[in-house]
Amino acid sequence: MTRKDDYYNRAKQQGYRARSAYKLKQIDETADLFDRGDTVVDLGAAPGGWLQVAAEEVGEGGTVIGVDLQRIDELESEAVETLRGDMTEEKTRDKLRDRMDGRQADVVVSDMAPNMTGQYDLDHARSVHLARQAFKTAREVLAPGGDFVVKVFQGRDLDDFREEVGEAFEYVRTVSPEASRDSSSEVFLVGKGQITAPVEEGDRIEVEIESVGSEGDGIAKVEGYTLFVPGTEAGDTVEVVVDDIKPKFGFADRADE
Ligand code: SAM
Repeated sequence: MTRKDDYYNRAKQQGYRARSAYKLKQIDETADLFDRGDTVVDLGAAPGGWLQVAAEEVGEGGTVIGVDLQRIDELESEAVETLRGDMTEEKTRDKLRDRMDGRQADVVVSDMAPNMTGQYDLDHARSVHLARQAFKTAREVLAPGGDFVVKVFQGRDLDDFREEVGEAFEYVRTVSPEASRDSSSEVFLVGKGQITAPVEEGDRIEVEIESVGSEGDGIAKVEGYTLFVPGTEAGDTVEVVVDDIKPKFGFADRADE
């Protein structure tokens, strides 16, 4: 039996709406995406295989919002909500934000794919366009530290896109799940730990030390973002060079030392 038939049959037997459910399971195994109670946004969610997997992982206390051009038949899980719309349109992103009602997502996943023409370059370009829409949406709705998964067909713009995603996350990985068909050119980019810092590594800025943390480092705030600066005291105003950026805080060194 080929691998393709195997996943197809497993999906039938285990009650998943699509064999692609196993791709998300395998990505989650490598990248550790979901926690109980998480809020997840799933773009290109029809017929609902990924919604089923995400709903199992977040449990009844979590929320999974699925968006697709196509109607998604209602799912059993009470965690799942669906929305019909085109993710390339601003009004769909507005509807999604309304539905989230001020909540931020812990994970945004996108399995969106264009209708295939068979022309490799065109299919690739359309896939990158959809992936960029998913990335834009993720930047709007993800919490600091949140994770992002996006399907892209391989081709000449993949490296540039991977670099863009890499700048917004602590790190990015390219994952090819076993459940992807051998013939497919798809890969999944996984961005872990969204960074929302207002400063970048290497920036030289002046900061005021507001207090001293339990480890003894001075603490400065830049637009609400915490920077730890070793060797400073509360009340100091110092010039620093940003050294290390994490999703929720960063480190900077005194420039005068
Ligand atoms: N992950 C799904 C599952 O497990 O059931 C399968 C997704 S399927 C491979 C790709 C989906 O992307 C299709 O249902 C398609 O309608 C959707 N899609 C493509 N372009 C879209 C767009 N611009 N906005 C929203 N959904 C889109």
